[in-house]
Amino acid sequence: MPHRRFNPLTREWVLVSPHRALRPWLGKHEEHPTANQPQYDPNCYLCPGNERAGGNRNPPYTSTFVFDNDYPALLPDAPVIEVEESSLIVGCSERGICRVVCFSPRHDLTISRMSELEVLQVVNVWAEQSESLAAIPWVGYVQIFENRGELMGASNPHPHCQVWAASTVPDVPAKEQASFLEYRDKHHSCLLCDYLCLELKHQERIVCENESFVALVPFWAVWPFETMVLGKRHAAQLSELSSSERVQLADIVRRVSIRYDNVFEAPFPYSMGFHEKPAQSESGSAWHLHAHYFPPLLRSSSVRKFMVGFELLGNPQRDITPESAAARLREVADVHYLDR
Ligand SMILES: [Zn+2]
Ligand SMILES: [Zn+2]
Ligand SMILES: [Zn+2]
Repeated sequence: MPHRRFNPLTREWVLVSPHRALRPWLGKHEEHPTANQPQYDPNCYLCPGNERAGGNRNPPYTSTFVFDNDYPALLPDAPVIEVEESSLIVGCSERGICRVVCFSPRHDLTISRMSELEVLQVVNVWAEQSESLAAIPWVGYVQIFENRGELMGASNPHPHCQVWAASTVPDVPAKEQASFLEYRDKHHSCLLCDYLCLELKHQERIVCENESFVALVPFWAVWPFETMVLGKRHAAQLSELSSSERVQLADIVRRVSIRYDNVFEAPFPYSMGFHEKPAQSESGSAWHLHAHYFPPLLRSSSVRKFMVGFELLGNPQRDITPESAAARLREVADVHYLDR
């Protein structure tokens, strides 16, 4: 039956319409994405030794490589401007730092094809970047995110992510922060620690887990194969993770992306990112570190979901249930289809 589900993190609703999945055609057909990329592309601005737009040259790096984005969305020295007219036309300047993190010198690899040790190096860079950027007094929030695949607007297949440090806390983490605080005041416990307990009891939305982390399809998932990665221990930021937890995080991140690729035996596009506590927050202890994966694919590697109509004007809607998406992700192997 059609029903609504509540997202306690953002306090938004999603409409679930399982009966609609039987419709003969859903979503837009996309060209089948190709998995074949060269190991090195002389025209790639992220490959080692190549020149980037703007004239900077990448070093001959051999593991990860971090640089300031040549076309940053935010600038560290933006002048302070404020506009306010009758509380209706309101704006202000925003400062920030935008960086790019190359995961590997190999142009053709993705997290799902990298070794555990290589992914661990990426996890360590994430933790270092967010810790050092959050230490800058004017930085309010550090957002790490990866757009994978052309469908998600990734302009370059070379495996990389971005780190944006902004002077203010963006809307989504700000909503989550308010929810974490309100929940703690009311229940004297953590929203996501309590939620994880429920999910581990029910099991039906769990995708995979290890000693320290769980990947699950949240009860309120909007995107067809949306997942969330949660730590079993209450920690507010990546830099708090012990070295063994970082190994476990690398393992779970790797397994989630392998399972995604295995669903349609094709590179699976997604936007993923971590939500860590706001940088200068006094009440950061209420925060529970987690990652969101938002993949746009629906029923095959060529059919994608769009957020239009009711979803733009009302609230999001999904057809396949989070439980059946979790079952599908659980069924596929932990070994990449190209490595079998
Ligand atoms: Zn490249
Ligand atoms: Zn917690
Ligand atoms: Zn979140």
